[in-house]
Amino acid sequence: MRAFVVGRWQPFHNGHLTIVKEIANEVDELIIGIGSAQKSHTLNDPFTAGERIMMIIKALKKFGFPYYVIPIKDIDFNAVWVSYVEALTPPFDVVYTGNALVKELFEERNYMVKKPKLYNRKEYSGTEIRRRILNDEEWKHLVPEEVVDVINEIDGENRIKRLSKTDYNIQ
Ligand code: NAD
Repeated sequence: MRAFVVGRWQPFHNGHLTIVKEIANEVDELIIGIGSAQKSHTLNDPFTAGERIMMIIKALKKFGFPYYVIPIKDIDFNAVWVSYVEALTPPFDVVYTGNALVKELFEERNYMVKKPKLYNRKEYSGTEIRRRILNDEEWKHLVPEEVVDVINEIDGENRIKRLSKTDYNIQ
C-alpha cells in the first residue's frame, strides 16, 4: 500500500513529523508532496521547495522508512488538480490530509482519504512558528532539530524578518 500526503511544510514541524511517522507505520511507502512548490520568499511561504525538501529529508533520515518527495506547483484549476498530482507522482492507494479542499478533490475521484489526528495544533502550526520567528519568540522546540539546522543554514529567521518589511511584499 502506497500513501500520498501533501503539505506546504512552511516549515516542516513536529505535528507534521508525528503524522508522517504514523502514516509510515500504516503503509509500505509514502509519497510526500511539497505543495505550492513555486512559492517562496513571502511571509506565508518563506521557504523554497528545495529548502523544504532539505528539512524533510534531514528530519526523516533516522527513521529509515521508504518515501518519495515530489514538488508540486499549484495550478489555477482545482478540477484537474488530482490528475495533475497523479501525473507527477508514483501511483498511490490512499491519501492522508487534514485539508478540506484536498479531501474533497480526492474523494470526488474515488480515492480513500484518511484524516490524521491533530497534535498540539495551537503551537504545531506553520503560521504560529512563522509568527514566533518574526517576533523573536521561542520556536525551535516546535520543529525537529534538523529543521532548526536548515533554517540556520539559510539564515531563515532573518529572511522572514526582511520579508515583513513592506517594500519586500510586492507579489
Ligand atoms: P500544511 O503544511 O498546512 O499541512 C500538511 C498536513 O499536515 C495537512 O494534512 C495538515 O492537516 C497536517 N497538519 C498540520 N498541522 C498539524 C498538526 N499540528 N498535527 C497533525 N497534523 C497537522 O499544508 P496543506 O495546506 O494541507 O497543503 C495542501 C497543499 O495542496 C497546498 O500547497 C495547496 O496549495 C495544495 N493544493 C493545490 C491545489 C491546486 O493547485 N489547484 C488544490 C488543492 C491543494
